[in-house]
Amino acid sequence: MDTTLSAHAQLETWRNLPVKQQPAWPDHAALRAAAAELRTYPPLVFAGECDILKGRLAQVAQGEAFVLQGGDCAETFEGVTADAIRSKLKTLLQMAAVLTYAASVPVVKIGRIAGQYGKPRSKDTETRDGVTLPAYRGDSVNGFDFTPKARVPDPWRMVRMYHSSAATLNLVRAFTTGGYADLRQVHAWNRDFVANSPSGERYEMVATEIERALNFMRACGTDPEELRTVEFFSSHEGLLLEYESALTRTDSRTGLLYNTSGHFVWIGERTRDLDGAHIDYFSRIRNPIGIKLGPATTPDDAIAYLNKLNPDREPGRLTFVTRMGAGLVRDKLPALVEKVTGEGHQVAWICDPMHGNTFEAPSGHKTRRFDDVLDEVKGFFEVHRGLGTHPGGIHVELTGDDVTECIGGGDEIVFDDLGTRYESACDPRLNRSQSLDLAFLVAEMYRSAS
Ligand code: PEP
Ligand code: MN
Repeated sequence: MDTTLSAHAQLETWRNLPVKQQPAWPDHAALRAAAAELRTYPPLVFAGECDILKGRLAQVAQGEAFVLQGGDCAETFEGVTADAIRSKLKTLLQMAAVLTYAASVPVVKIGRIAGQYGKPRSKDTETRDGVTLPAYRGDSVNGFDFTPKARVPDPWRMVRMYHSSAATLNLVRAFTTGGYADLRQVHAWNRDFVANSPSGERYEMVATEIERALNFMRACGTDPEELRTVEFFSSHEGLLLEYESALTRTDSRTGLLYNTSGHFVWIGERTRDLDGAHIDYFSRIRNPIGIKLGPATTPDDAIAYLNKLNPDREPGRLTFVTRMGAGLVRDKLPALVEKVTGEGHQVAWICDPMHGNTFEAPSGHKTRRFDDVLDEVKGFFEVHRGLGTHPGGIHVELTGDDVTECIGGGDEIVFDDLGTRYESACDPRLNRSQSLDLAFLVAEMYRSAS
């Protein structure tokens, strides 16, 4: 990083580099006005919180904690409702309770939430019945409806992204610190779920054991304050650089730059060009950051990312989120882990078992098989066990609702079910039951690996 440039100048260098996956904003005056407006807004997160998360991720890199990162593929403005936010949070809290209890490991909880509005696309356009329109790039850019008007990129949507993120984060903070996430509520999170689902019943047994442990502790005279609140962080793909840089601020404590639109931001598989704008922008901020690594990543690429994004080898700064696909993880991951470890770097390795396992169902729905998701996580654990490194966490697309977007799971969804409740604006998500199934299975893998 060039430290001779002023903080402001550092923030602008990405503009001179090749940039991928940015919308073709038709109205440049509107773009400038929307970005100027965003620059006047207060930060959504505090730099000190980002540092706390960096510390937690350093523990993950050292093998002392496990990350649960999850949420929608694409948040939508319409989805900013109390019910939807509560049920996503509830699902993550239930998964975290299962993992913490059954795997006996501290769980770092990170939502793909309060900012996950911009989407990279494999094609710039979408064609239906002979009509071609710009692709949907997330609610922060254009509308999902397949009409010429909805698909025009509108920079004021980034302003709505800020407000939607603020409202979401406010409720998440209220729930996680105001009593809802108190571990004594471990049964309450399951109340609407237990009666009709095998995973809900299984969860109920864990919750009863946790409750017994809490009662035992209380009887012994200890009732720790730590169990009343939950430490929860926000994250999203830092895709739209106009938005991310407008929300980047100088930390008053240290004079360093932080992206204040979320605690953790990551670089996606399609925007990780070593000499591109995204890597440059991310090298300027001090947040803990992630980078998605697909099967084409070479061990030398991984080292080049480390040198560019974490030259000072700061613990917890860089997380590798691998998304190889169930069929490739056992072949492709070992060389990366070996090289990175061999060169003395310590990173948190997280498995995204979603993005390498997407296919089109006969009905035309984008879907994933629960068994493939599970198999990629299994492969990830096998590789790390084989090399003596730490499987540091999972990154999943999920929702708290009873959607029918992924195939399989204990409460099995088959191809014919996909049309029943397919609501994702982008990739298929695990529903609540599939998410809990996954948490139980990952807890078992973790236990037998450690
Ligand atoms: C995503 O996380 O939704 C995504 C697009 O992932 P990737 O960059 O790994 O394809
Ligand atoms: Mn996705």
